[in-house]
Amino acid sequence: MAKNKKTLPKGISKVRSLRKKTPSVAELTRGIKNGDTTVLARAITLVESTHPDHLQKSYEIIENCLSDNSDSIRIGITGVPGVGKSTFIEVFGTTLTAMGKKVAVLAVDPTSSLSKGSILGDKTRMPMLANDDNVFIRPSPSGDSLGGVARKTRESVILCEAAGFDVILIETVGVGQSETAVHSMVDFFLLLKLAGAGDELQGIKRGIMEMADAVVINKADGPNLKRALRAKTDFQRALHLYPPKENEWVPKVLTCSAIENTGIKEIWEIVQSYITLTQKNSSFNAQRREQNNYWFLQTVKDLLSHNFYKDPRIQTRLQSLTKEVEQNRISPFRAAEELLGEYLQQLK
Ligand code: GDP
Repeated sequence: MAKNKKTLPKGISKVRSLRKKTPSVAELTRGIKNGDTTVLARAITLVESTHPDHLQKSYEIIENCLSDNSDSIRIGITGVPGVGKSTFIEVFGTTLTAMGKKVAVLAVDPTSSLSKGSILGDKTRMPMLANDDNVFIRPSPSGDSLGGVARKTRESVILCEAAGFDVILIETVGVGQSETAVHSMVDFFLLLKLAGAGDELQGIKRGIMEMADAVVINKADGPNLKRALRAKTDFQRALHLYPPKENEWVPKVLTCSAIENTGIKEIWEIVQSYITLTQKNSSFNAQRREQNNYWFLQTVKDLLSHNFYKDPRIQTRLQSLTKEVEQNRISPFRAAEELLGEYLQQLK
């Protein structure tokens, strides 16, 4: 290797060494703010890294990118595999770029490290957007906990906004609590559904209807159109049963066909009327502030428990206390207090 290096023409070796050099925080920040997507991608890689050396640098970049007056809109999109999320994002995103908007597509997929098959936000699933200069696509970060994956995406949103993206689409599948995680980082939450055999309302996960600002029944085309319209009425009726939202928004039910590109513009119009309403009654910014607090407290919780469980003495004591609890030699509550007491003792 070393021999090869010596024989390289001077210019080439210089380019290589420049390429290798890690850019500084200032350089990365400048690149992001100039809208350079190569730098943006590089900065996101840093944010996603679990290497302790990268952590401080990524915090600094994020802080440089925080802004009070970003007029971006963050939209969460969820639905079961096969509902048409990538087809929908492709056509919705194209509609937005045709209006002159810059669109970023991010994803939260807590299973992406396990099953490489469902990596969301993958460029190959959205070929038109992938070739659009006004679009930035980033597949889901990997990670072994939803909290970790979601936090990284949450931070990438900030970088994308600083890079001038107007609309941030965040895709997720309903695995575990991933919808809740995405809901707590977006302004508008869109649930994609299919019209099935008439029992779609029963198959819906608890809590998801309360989160939705719009339910969109996709594949409303061909022989499926009638069923889709019927499902629309059913969902509208079901949504009436929920208490009104604090921000006064009444969730909407729409139909669309991502393949035929029908009903797509209407969805954007709904998003716009949501923004108009929530900005007028100040709930738009209030929601973002609440979300910031949520992430702050959630991260405190995560860090506390991470620190606690990685402590070797706690691990040993936890094992022995578990046995005692199982054998009814100690009450679970006293065992918990004892374990925590041991931890706090060490901190003194
Ligand atoms: P995802 O898994 O939710 O991302 O779903 P995909 O976007 O990959 O779509 C799954 C399948 O449904 C693909 O074969 C699409 O071509 C098809 N599909 C997506 N949208 C529509 C639609 O509006 N109408 C019809 N008929 N098929 C669709």
